[in-house]
Amino acid sequence: RKAAYAALRDVAPETKDGHRVTVMVNAGLRDDVAALDLTGADGIGLFRTEFQFLVSATLPQRERQQRLYREVLDAAGERPVVFRTVDIGGDKALPYLDHSDAEEENPAMGWRALRLALERDGLMKAQARALLEAAAGRTLNVMFPMVSEAWEFDEAKALFEAQRAWLAGRGKRLPNEIRYGAMLEVPSLAYQLDLLLPKVQFLSVGTNDLTQFLFAADRANPKLAERYDWLSSSILRFLMQVAGPARAADVPVAVCGEMGGRPLEAMALIGIGIDRLSITPAAVGPIKAMVRTLNRGRLTAFIERLLADPPRDMRGALAAWAASEGV
Ligand code: PEP
Ligand code: MG
Repeated sequence: RKAAYAALRDVAPETKDGHRVTVMVNAGLRDDVAALDLTGADGIGLFRTEFQFLVSATLPQRERQQRLYREVLDAAGERPVVFRTVDIGGDKALPYLDHSDAEEENPAMGWRALRLALERDGLMKAQARALLEAAAGRTLNVMFPMVSEAWEFDEAKALFEAQRAWLAGRGKRLPNEIRYGAMLEVPSLAYQLDLLLPKVQFLSVGTNDLTQFLFAADRANPKLAERYDWLSSSILRFLMQVAGPARAADVPVAVCGEMGGRPLEAMALIGIGIDRLSITPAAVGPIKAMVRTLNRGRLTAFIERLLADPPRDMRGALAAWAASEGV
């Protein structure tokens, strides 16, 4: 099977009825970028910039951040890279950053990601400058984690734009284009899509965090991990209600959580209209193989019927359909 997946490297992930799916990879360190060439992925849909912070004994200075971002962009070439600003705090505490004012009982729901970054804005300003300078002469795709309300996106974007103006004032070369996106991983944001969609160039759904917040079930607790299924009708209906307005507003939506790297889950996502996936590199082969056996028109019709009157065992129903279709 490994050889079969390797053979798919240069084959496009296209359904039998001619629909092109975008398959990107998740990355976080310089060496992860090699996965692009190994898998033939369309780009990096999630570059987790906090990894550099987590593996470092001291706060990575702006120059070091900038060097990493430039190396990643160089290696990616024409393929897009989506940089996510740091998602630290909570359970990703940094030894060299003072979190002492944030003793937390529920760190996943705590002072992390954008919540921390907008307050400790020195960190975010340095990262913004590093990204803007690294992407000079190219397109910069930047997205913000844990956006819970649209105003947080506004503040984060304003911080980047202020850095851009500052660099421009000093005659620095800038990106040709900056595309701003939000991660949708806190359910409250779904109820502000009318406010958010006109402002963003793209959305990326973090189904790891989204699932834990939607079900109020800790993603790290093995006692709960098996209990709530990504294929439950709650999740799929939620995602459908995000995908619809986004499509109407012409804003591309990707899924960058682990869900998208599992063939049956990815099939369901494509069925509800999410055809951009950013996944772990090892999953690219299996997902491409699955996509090439799909008839998307039939899948969409089936899933719409299924979600109108969902059985308790959604996974079973989807697996049975896939088997009957030869997926
Ligand atoms: C997610 O929450 O689904 C996600 C992609 O981000 P992370 O796993 O880094 O929290
Ligand atoms: Mg997340």
